[in-house]
Amino acid sequence: MDARDPITSTRGVGPVLGRRLAAAGCRRIVDLLAHLPLRYEDRRTLGRLPGADGAATESPASGPLTVVARLENVRRVFGRRRFSRVEAVASDGAARVGVVWFNRPYLAQQLEENVSYLLHGPLRRRGGDGPWQLSNPTVERISGEKPGGGGLRPVYGRIGEVPPSRVARLAADAIRGLRDTSASNWIEEWLPREERTKHQLPRLADALTEVHLPSGHASIEELNARRSPAHARLAYGEFLLQQLQLAAVRRQRRRSGKPHRYRADGAAWAAAAGLVPFRLTRAQERVLGEIAEDLARNEPMLRLVQGDVGSGKTVLAALSCLIAARSGLQSALMAPTELLAEQHFASLERLLGSRLTIALVTSSQRAASDGGAVDERIADGRIDLVVGTHALIEERTRFARLALAVIDEQHRFGVVQRQSLARKGLRPDLLVMTATPIPRSLALTVYGDLDVSILDEMPPGRRPIETRVTTDGRMEKVVNEVRQRLESGGRAYVVFPLIDGGEGTAARLPSLKESGLKWARALAAPYGVVHGRLRRQERDETMGRFARGSIQVLLATTVIEVGVDVPEATAMVILGAERFGLAQLHQLRGRIGRGTDPELGDPLCVAIAEAPSAEAERRLEVFAASTDGFRIAEEDMRQRGPGEILGTRQAGLPQFRFGDLARDWRWLVAARQDASQVLDRLADPANAALRRQLERRVPGLVSPEEGSARP
Ligand code: ADP
Ligand code: MG
Repeated sequence: MDARDPITSTRGVGPVLGRRLAAAGCRRIVDLLAHLPLRYEDRRTLGRLPGADGAATESPASGPLTVVARLENVRRVFGRRRFSRVEAVASDGAARVGVVWFNRPYLAQQLEENVSYLLHGPLRRRGGDGPWQLSNPTVERISGEKPGGGGLRPVYGRIGEVPPSRVARLAADAIRGLRDTSASNWIEEWLPREERTKHQLPRLADALTEVHLPSGHASIEELNARRSPAHARLAYGEFLLQQLQLAAVRRQRRRSGKPHRYRADGAAWAAAAGLVPFRLTRAQERVLGEIAEDLARNEPMLRLVQGDVGSGKTVLAALSCLIAARSGLQSALMAPTELLAEQHFASLERLLGSRLTIALVTSSQRAASDGGAVDERIADGRIDLVVGTHALIEERTRFARLALAVIDEQHRFGVVQRQSLARKGLRPDLLVMTATPIPRSLALTVYGDLDVSILDEMPPGRRPIETRVTTDGRMEKVVNEVRQRLESGGRAYVVFPLIDGGEGTAARLPSLKESGLKWARALAAPYGVVHGRLRRQERDETMGRFARGSIQVLLATTVIEVGVDVPEATAMVILGAERFGLAQLHQLRGRIGRGTDPELGDPLCVAIAEAPSAEAERRLEVFAASTDGFRIAEEDMRQRGPGEILGTRQAGLPQFRFGDLARDWRWLVAARQDASQVLDRLADPANAALRRQLERRVPGLVSPEEGSARP
């Protein structure tokens, strides 16, 4: 037998059940085996029913009870509104205890009296202090010869119309059937021996066997956490296939060359780096090296630079654009808001204005009279670097020879916009920068088509931000501390979760409209207001005044989250902090403490929460304890799961069947690291099975060059 045989070749699957399984996508035995148990029950130690004295032999708090008992008095009891339950009395000779099942009316017919059953379920006192009762136990007839415990029992979910208990029997029968007929050759082993040995992973057949018929080698805790070697094998295997697919795509892309060349050697890069008024951090140097290598290649760069707010990504983009200009090539930098685009434009002008021609392209700038003139100068190549918003990807912007496209704060743009900018040139090099700290594992999958660089070091001279979380709503202490900072020339944000209170929430959350004025008065400094319902122009104007210092306090909602650089901002008060996600809190905090002027004093962030839930409290604890965006992101993913982190906007998150990005990310990282080596060895005849797996996922992916010379 073979796992690819139709499901109907499993014992007990006739045409009817076969059709029901097929309707749920389960056509072959292997499809059934891909349904892993949801959890495992430990039935290795048989307990006893609570004795006549009423004491439980096993306290209910210690988990479910497994007993062998006869059933008496099996009957169906009808309650109100058509709800019914099945009741019985279990007896093990010494004691008798009531049993109740809900929603399983068929048991009334199935269960036979005076026959021994293995029962497994929680033992509770009825109504809290009444007689003992087994509630909703699993029930299994004991087949004569083996009255002992039931071992580690997998518990399944239903498959379509097929109920869990049936699935359990089928899976066990399927594995036994396969093993009996063909040792361990019933499923093709495609994971190369090198990787299996390196990570000490079991063979596929053994992993599937262990998962469905646990031998007891793995502990119940490991099994339930899906961290047994068998589970690891399945997750790693799945990740490796995905990463091989991505690696193969990357290689294919590499074969399509780009038309432009940079005239830059190591000395040119070093000279460029010498132009910035500070020393690059080691992380910046490393990432710049990675970019330089990419640019020197024949094929277009596709690189994501992830770095916490303030880690200095913009400089890297600037130096790359300078190198492009020196090579007679154009570059573009796209930012998500006008304000950010203007800021970039201003700082690039400052840094490089004397060495290359820079233009700003935004809707406002377009509205101004010289919009057309700029377009013309971009089109005939007189502009070296275009900084702008998505106005850049409008039809009317045409480049003479766009070679390098930089996208800032990628998470604000979709993949579509990324591609639209890329289409402005002929296979331009693409540099994507993001400060949204995405866990490494997610970056590897979601941005799997990109090479990832990480800026994990802050420029020197920054003072660590003191973060305080409090549930004390009184303003005085906070106000004093913030005022101190305002008096030494600093600026402060007060962040509200809501614009006004009328937003249908039962909980009383501070809103900008209700409490804004109170804060402004208490802080006694010129202030401005920004939130999402103001016109963008008005918002940008206020932000501009805040940046210049004509206002010192900004009352805001989360619109200030992204990118804005005001080095003098040294204080932030976050109200209703329990309402914000971890990543969002971190982004907000990244707005302060960006300056290095010692006069400004130590930056302070106070998060005020009112009656946070236990979960919110954990979140806030992590927030206060760490300023490392990557650590925060990992924790955020652990708490909320990968889907939540990316939000619904981020389509294309691959669905894994066995692996879980939060739980198994180490395996994903391992798979990513192994992928390129495995790809190199793909032509090896020993890897024919792996080639078939890949070929099945993406036909045509494994090119003759990388695949085998097939006979
Ligand atoms: P990011 O875009 O990653 O948030 P930026 O590139 O805007 O960060 O840099 C933040 C600030 O730090 C800028 O004012 C920049 O000039 C400064 N900066 C960047 N790199 C360094 C460095 N190596 N040493 C000192 N200051 C730096
Ligand atoms: Mg930036």
